[in-house]
Amino acid sequence: MTLALYPGSFDPMTYGHLDIVKRAAALFDKLVVGIYDRPNKKLLFTAEERVELAQKAVADIRNVTVQSYSILTVDFAKQIGAKVMVRGLRAASDFELEFEMAMMNRKLKPELELVCFMANLQYQFLSSSLLKEVSQGGGNIDPWVPEHIVNALKQKFGSER
Ligand code: ADP
Repeated sequence: MTLALYPGSFDPMTYGHLDIVKRAAALFDKLVVGIYDRPNKKLLFTAEERVELAQKAVADIRNVTVQSYSILTVDFAKQIGAKVMVRGLRAASDFELEFEMAMMNRKLKPELELVCFMANLQYQFLSSSLLKEVSQGGGNIDPWVPEHIVNALKQKFGSER
């Protein structure tokens, strides 16, 4: 049985992330979406909120679960018994950083294999940070996230407007 870990900030989960989740879930026996507690970036949602939003988004995919973690990603992978780490690659923005992280992770845990999925064309320019900016400005984000996440974003930013 192959368990795969898809780690990230997911602040919040978008259709770009969900597309990777679905494709990875079709390839591996089980997929854990790992929500990193304290990434090195400014967050809008708490870890608990990010888990809840992601859980609802993946609820209809039978072999996917969501867990938050606060240790090194490679250590979390080992802790849950994941043999594979999944990441998504967008053409313009991701390669260099992912490559750097992959080389470091390989040094730390050579037995953990990395599988990168190329982002689908319609999600190449979608990022959680851009989405938050559009939502904060009152723009339409319906094409990019499930309805419950549209509402959660509106709620977060509602008080600012
Ligand atoms: P991190 O802080 O680890 O980069 P993110 O939540 O931004 O966390 O992204 C998690 C993973 O999903 C990363 O591998 C990222 O490249 C990928 N990803 C982000 N946005 C998209 C998208 N629109 N399409 C495909 N993959 C994406």
